[in-house]
Amino acid sequence: MEHRLPAPTLIDAETLVLDQALQLLQQAGALLPDEAPKSAAWLQAVLDALCDLSSKDALTSLVNRRSFEMALAREVDRVARSGEAALLLMLDIDHFKAVNDTYGHGAGDQVIRAVARTVEHTVRPMDLVARVGGEEFAIILPNCASHTGLAVAERVRERVSELRIEVAPGQMLNVTVSLGGAFAPQWVRSSPLLWTERADRQLYRAKAEGRNRACLEPQIESLVSAEEKGMLFATLNLDTQQDTA
Ligand code: GH3
Ligand code: MG
Ligand code: MG
Repeated sequence: MEHRLPAPTLIDAETLVLDQALQLLQQAGALLPDEAPKSAAWLQAVLDALCDLSSKDALTSLVNRRSFEMALAREVDRVARSGEAALLLMLDIDHFKAVNDTYGHGAGDQVIRAVARTVEHTVRPMDLVARVGGEEFAIILPNCASHTGLAVAERVRERVSELRIEVAPGQMLNVTVSLGGAFAPQWVRSSPLLWTERADRQLYRAKAEGRNRACLEPQIESLVSAEEKGMLFATLNLDTQQDTA
């Protein structure tokens, strides 16, 4: 007996209730699509704008925690396939509660925005900067050589410390940040969770060691270059030959 699939039911765009979605986009300052309302192109543009909105943090317009987690999972896969090491940096504003307590929540928000912009402008366009918590940020740096990791983290730390933020007319404020970082080299089995935990551990170390500093997980295996490995094995081979002579 022949089974026929039921004919697909096409959506009648006129029956869709989109008031709330459109209101949300308007409130977020998103540009509404130019296409004829409820045409396929218009619906596509609305969906794209909603996706964009749900991946961004409202205060800083940086990528939000959800998108960061997706990007981190993609990076773990990419590292495993490409063999290029990537660096994950976690960043936390120092003594931020005191900023809120002293200057008010509005000033605190201004500081978060200023730090976000500075970090964004200090790293490469290919790096992903996300706001992952109140005054916490994460940076994924693909294809980052192990010897440049600390220099990048230090540059971010320094640029933030040089910032002067005007929180009220004539009232300038400066803040510092602590950073923790860990590499995900191809030869270390990694998962997004493990990688984040390793970077977080370094962030706690930076806080414990006095703040306004960057700590990176010491590299073990990756510090030995191919040339150094060759020299090491050449010595071992020599020893073995001498032993058997
Ligand atoms: P530490 O140096 O150990 O990081 O100290 P801290 O004061 O920065 O850390 P703590 O976790 O004690 O305080 C973080 C504060 O950040 C508390 C919370 O009220 C504030 N916060 C979280 N999200 C926001 C936000 O969106 N805006 C503002 N203004 N404050 C926020
Ligand atoms: Mg914090
Ligand atoms: Mg903090």
